[in-house]
Amino acid sequence: MLATITVDDEKCNDPLSCRKCLLICPTHVLGLGTDVGPQKFRETDPNHFILRGVRFEKCTGCMDCVEVCPQNAIQVSF
Ligand code: SF4
Ligand code: SF4
Repeated sequence: MLATITVDDEKCNDPLSCRKCLLICPTHVLGLGTDVGPQKFRETDPNHFILRGVRFEKCTGCMDCVEVCPQNAIQVSF
């Protein structure tokens, strides 16, 4: 069964600096993206970065990301 991973962007307000969940996930499920899409020839404003589940099929449900998040911003369910 695929995991459902939700991230509260209000709580996860600086994923570019934090990255704790990205680093701890053993199967690299999570990814950093932006809410503005690719911007040619322009540096993306750090405020536009968002953390999302990407490779849902790799999630084992270990909950390491949930436990490591200092903002309590991630929820994982099946
Ligand atoms: S529950 Fe575990 S495997 Fe799934 S995204 Fe979080 S750290 Fe990765
Ligand atoms: S650990 Fe929490 S606050 Fe840090 S990047 Fe991941 S979701 Fe955001």
